[in-house]
Amino acid sequence: MKSIRVAQFGEPEEMQLQEVPKPVPAPGQILIHVKAAGVNPVETYIRSGNYARLPVLPYTPGSDAAGLVDAVGEGVREFEIGERVYTSGSLSGTYAEFALCDVAQVHRLPERIPFPQGAALGVPYATAYRGLVQRGSAVAGETVLIHGASGGVGTAAVQMARAHGLTVFGTAGTEQGRQLVRDQGAHATFDHHAPDYMTQILSRTGGRGVDLIIELLANQNLGQDLKALAPGGRVVIIGSRGKVEIDPRDAMAREADIRGMVLANAPASERAAIHVALGLGLEGGSLRPIIAQEIPLAEAARAHRAVMSAGALGKIVLIP
Ligand code: NAP
Repeated sequence: MKSIRVAQFGEPEEMQLQEVPKPVPAPGQILIHVKAAGVNPVETYIRSGNYARLPVLPYTPGSDAAGLVDAVGEGVREFEIGERVYTSGSLSGTYAEFALCDVAQVHRLPERIPFPQGAALGVPYATAYRGLVQRGSAVAGETVLIHGASGGVGTAAVQMARAHGLTVFGTAGTEQGRQLVRDQGAHATFDHHAPDYMTQILSRTGGRGVDLIIELLANQNLGQDLKALAPGGRVVIIGSRGKVEIDPRDAMAREADIRGMVLANAPASERAAIHVALGLGLEGGSLRPIIAQEIPLAEAARAHRAVMSAGALGKIVLIP
């Protein structure tokens, strides 16, 4: 089978398409015939060697995919060959024609969801749900700011927050991005490059502030976030690419919470809850992943450059 392999950490071009043996599932494992694989920013950090946990070289990147069950290992009764599924993790990597998964990493993909959309679920939708519901404690009637709403996690969070009955504000760096965010249900959008946009957000709440901020770039925004919170407000940090200065008095005055999250920390019971909720949202139509670009697997390097570029418009996926 064809698979992207990384022999040493470095530039996107370290990702090379190679012919490798097709894996055989052991007991409790499933082999997925990958129809689309999701590209997440974390895969660029790992490929460059700048991440806390690095794989043993050589390796195949990727944890998100959607496709068909190709083979099941002994003892697997949950899935049948030919079933449509998506993954939330992989033992062998998903930038490939076939991906080996543990049975707990595989979830049914509703008929109505095409494979590229299915490849947008594992990290982005699960992260949005954990950020908004499990860590953010979002409650209907509250106001949430999705700070970085135009990308894979942001568009998911906007759709989810709307379905949960929140008033939703979202930011994006381009007019096209802001239009996309409004199309996903945001009540108001703001330009995170405009010098006064946090003031605009505050005045949109009548000066009270927002109850919850889902933060995708904390190293730029956390200091200002704390000033835009309502009393008892929460910031959930999902993304950060460096250090930031804050004034702790902003949190004290509002009795505000700063809550971090990393999806991989979610315990098994909470992961299971996430995928039950995603399944319901996909079936019901409130969750509709947005695909910005479908890129051939052989051009994985282009996909890694694209996911780190400004002007996000949803999710980038690779097609084997
Ligand atoms: P993405 O699809 O590349 O989207 C990036 C988003 O960040 C876009 O909406 C982009 O908006 C926005 N952005 C750019 N400049 C910003 C600014 N100054 N303020 C606020 N937002 C800004 O990436 P993603 O998959 O959504 O992931 C977003 C971040 O979350 C990444 O850093 C990723 O590593 C992290 N993440 C963390 C977890 C976790 O478990 N903690 C899980 C998934 C992702 P424009 O392009 O319109 O400017």
